[in-house]
Amino acid sequence: MTELVGIFDSHSHYDEPAFDADRFGLLDDMLAEGSPVCGLIHAATGVSSMEFGLSLAERYPNAYASVGFHPEFTDSLPDDPAAVLEDMLSRSDKIVAVGEVGLDYHFEGYDRDKQISLLRCEIELAQKYSLPLIFHCREATEDFMRLMREYKPEGVVHCFSGSAETARELVGLGLYLGFGGVLTFENSKRVKKAFADVPADRFLLETDCPYLAPVPFRGQRCDSYMIKYTAACGAEIKGMTAQQITDAARENTQRLFRL
Ligand SMILES: [Zn+2]
Repeated sequence: MTELVGIFDSHSHYDEPAFDADRFGLLDDMLAEGSPVCGLIHAATGVSSMEFGLSLAERYPNAYASVGFHPEFTDSLPDDPAAVLEDMLSRSDKIVAVGEVGLDYHFEGYDRDKQISLLRCEIELAQKYSLPLIFHCREATEDFMRLMREYKPEGVVHCFSGSAETARELVGLGLYLGFGGVLTFENSKRVKKAFADVPADRFLLETDCPYLAPVPFRGQRCDSYMIKYTAACGAEIKGMTAQQITDAARENTQRLFRL
């Protein structure tokens, strides 16, 4: 496989325990001059994850942070989540997005009304500060699309897994779509179809690492180097080279997050 340059990982979670043994050794190499990976965004999920993102952004010039509460934290939110996010925003100019926020109806346990009101609060905050959002949407398309139509927010739907029709509507609303290892999975016909359709100026590449490693590493710990396998798969689908896919995704990421 040819080596790529200029890989930008638009969605990573290097605070996860899977990286405890070698986190900074891995990142020091990955984010150094001459590495195939030229930058990454840490997608925050809760308070400790936001703190991690800020420290990452301080340590590496090409690492960026986001602030937000993932829907899985809906039941353990601080009294005033917006105030916590605003305080975080005041601490660094390398916070480039509000995320990872959204709706997750996969697990019965998370209250749906609370998820929706949290998401509204986070979208309004992002719009107040003119920041793009990083959205998570799992088994909640109907409610999610209703909010997208209402707010027309700026942002990316990460790990996009919806239909080509939903993809078209999101792109029509001005949103970007994020694609990761799932694109390479044999059974992911729908994701491949959406990638085939998405305009070249509207897709981002991501890992969601340590999760969702692409084939041939499916099931193993993922890291940002592995984006080259996703790019190679995307290249075949779109009839472009893997380097062209990588370059388009990086330019789209830089445009969306104003890097
Ligand atoms: Zn994520």
